[in-house]
Amino acid sequence: MSALILDGKAIAAAVRQELKATVTQFRAKGITPGLAVCLVGEDPASDVYVRNKVRACEEVGIRSVELRLPATTTQVELEALIDRWNADDTIDGILVQLPLPKGLDAGPIVARIATHKDVDGFGMENLGQLTAGKPALVACTPAGVMEILRRHSLNTGWSLRGKHAVVVGRSITVGRPMALLLLQANATVTICHSQTADLKSFVSSADLLVAAAGQRHLVQGDWVKPGAVVIDVGIHRGEDGKLSGDVDFAPAAALASAITPVPGGVGPMTIAMLLANTVQACQARRVGA
Ligand code: NAD
Repeated sequence: MSALILDGKAIAAAVRQELKATVTQFRAKGITPGLAVCLVGEDPASDVYVRNKVRACEEVGIRSVELRLPATTTQVELEALIDRWNADDTIDGILVQLPLPKGLDAGPIVARIATHKDVDGFGMENLGQLTAGKPALVACTPAGVMEILRRHSLNTGWSLRGKHAVVVGRSITVGRPMALLLLQANATVTICHSQTADLKSFVSSADLLVAAAGQRHLVQGDWVKPGAVVIDVGIHRGEDGKLSGDVDFAPAAALASAITPVPGGVGPMTIAMLLANTVQACQARRVGA
């Protein structure tokens, strides 16, 4: 079998097109969605992420407010900034780029972001809503995976209902919300993690595999169940500059029915869903149904 390639780049472009149309309607009513992004310190990878997010906002007509602060910024100063943005009616989404420099505690900063502006979906309220089966603002990467799966279902008739979904990874930002979203979509979900004994046996029984462990080629190709849908969240940059994922792509693609590539799979979806969350937050707070 040769797998269908799930083209995250193309899906992300389609999502952005749809958002642009929605934002145009909002703007016609005099409402421009706004996203505030704060980068503290000089981490080069974070710098690229923030630039990409700001550029993506511009493309769909979202107003972005970008603030770059020195690594010497204090916890109190950062919290005061969040308070200011929480109170600013023109800002619908607030994002503090993580990781923060040493000496700053991300937990209280994320917790301070107003729930209805928490477009990263990392706050306790939004995580709780998801756990309760009433998702509001959902973490962007797992939301992006669900969007890929939704379109795959529409295009091919494939269904998640009753399927065994295996998520490898249990982080608050990817693995856990991913598992909850799949449960919400009526899959039977297994979460594997660094302490799981015999990972291969779980992966081999997965109709849907989501690999988000952060270990290059952790999932060997021949572990994949024939006909499975494989989503690779992992991103690893090799010494040659090339990107690869948590799944050994070529042998896995020989067995899977559909698979996301790295790059060009889940990665482009994350920013697209950040824009979607910002538009959703704006709609909920300022536009109405
Ligand atoms: P993390 O380090 O916070 O969590 C990794 C998880 O994987 C942990 O829960 C751990 O228990 C589990 N794990 C680690 N080694 C394992 C092993 N050998 N077997 C089974 N489970 C194992 O990482 P994260 O932030 O969740 O990110 C995971 C990967 O996804 C990373 O490669 C990251 O770069 C990538 N990522 C990609 C995007 C994107 O937009 N595509 C977004 C976020 C993260």
